[in-house]
Amino acid sequence: MSVNYLRISVTDRCNLQCIYCHPLSGCDFIERKEILRFEEIHRIVRLFVRCGIRKVRLTGGEPLIRKNIVHLVRELANIAGVEELALTTNGVLLEPVAAELKDAGLQRVNISVDSAERESYKHITGFDLLPRVIKGIYKAVAVGLTPVKINTVILRGINESQILALAHMSAYFPLAVRFIEYCPTSKYTKPASDYVPNSEVRKIIERKLGPLSPVLVSDVDGPALYFRFRNSAGTIGFISGRSSIFCQKCNRLRLTSDGKVSPCLYSAHHYDVKKLIRGGASDEVVLDLLKKILHEKSNYTKLNSPAPEFSMQNIGG
Ligand code: SAM
Repeated sequence: MSVNYLRISVTDRCNLQCIYCHPLSGCDFIERKEILRFEEIHRIVRLFVRCGIRKVRLTGGEPLIRKNIVHLVRELANIAGVEELALTTNGVLLEPVAAELKDAGLQRVNISVDSAERESYKHITGFDLLPRVIKGIYKAVAVGLTPVKINTVILRGINESQILALAHMSAYFPLAVRFIEYCPTSKYTKPASDYVPNSEVRKIIERKLGPLSPVLVSDVDGPALYFRFRNSAGTIGFISGRSSIFCQKCNRLRLTSDGKVSPCLYSAHHYDVKKLIRGGASDEVVLDLLKKILHEKSNYTKLNSPAPEFSMQNIGG
């Protein structure tokens, strides 16, 4: 599988405190001076494109709390060779900037929503902001940041009751509702036992809403498997990172907000690109490191990684 996808966490800060992501003990945020500046992100992407990266996704923390994010989107969209530019957001701040983001060159958004019900949304995220997120979803569809994908993490005893309502959204709206298996990242977030396998989620959906038929989608390079109900406007996706292994198909690298490239979500190994850049390295020297990362990526997989504790907010999911 050729590596053509770079996910960039533009900040480790977030405006929500989701129980499966935000450490219970609070966050040790990265010092602001250590966070990559826009011109540094731009340079890294420009050089990665010379090594074959074609798809870029901005994530976080929450990318929409980063000041002037529209400017970064515009700059990245203008790099020749960036064929796909997308963003993953919790949607809270999306509605007012969706049109601007689209105009700047953003193509698609993924929006994280773990409940369709206001009280349980508040319980999971810490904030009573579901109505704002819903407005963001409508706006994203209206301005054409499509296909809009909804990311949902189901936790046992927390939001299993929401599976049907979330899945049902795809019956009437052109949304891809994707169930992402919970990945325990740290002893300070929820325990590993709270995970609900997607096989169980699928059974719950099919029992009540009818059979799901496989859908062939163009997003062949992602780990999601897509299905739909009969006559539904949208699709249902399953991303089963806990119960299955898709390392052979992995085409992605992750750039953390403090400038480290991670070859595998589960590996503790990283390459410090920012150190090189801030040390005054030439494009050629940085390119050598990027090529080395691509060359060595397959050495780091979920199977051979020691499953360290890590922060989803810094690495970006
Ligand atoms: N703030 C943005 C958002 O909420 O989408 C972007 C960052 S968030 C870390 C990116 C994705 O990671 C979200 O879809 C979220 O549901 C997912 N995520 C976070 N922690 C996770 C975990 N422990 N297991 C599985 N997915 C997780």
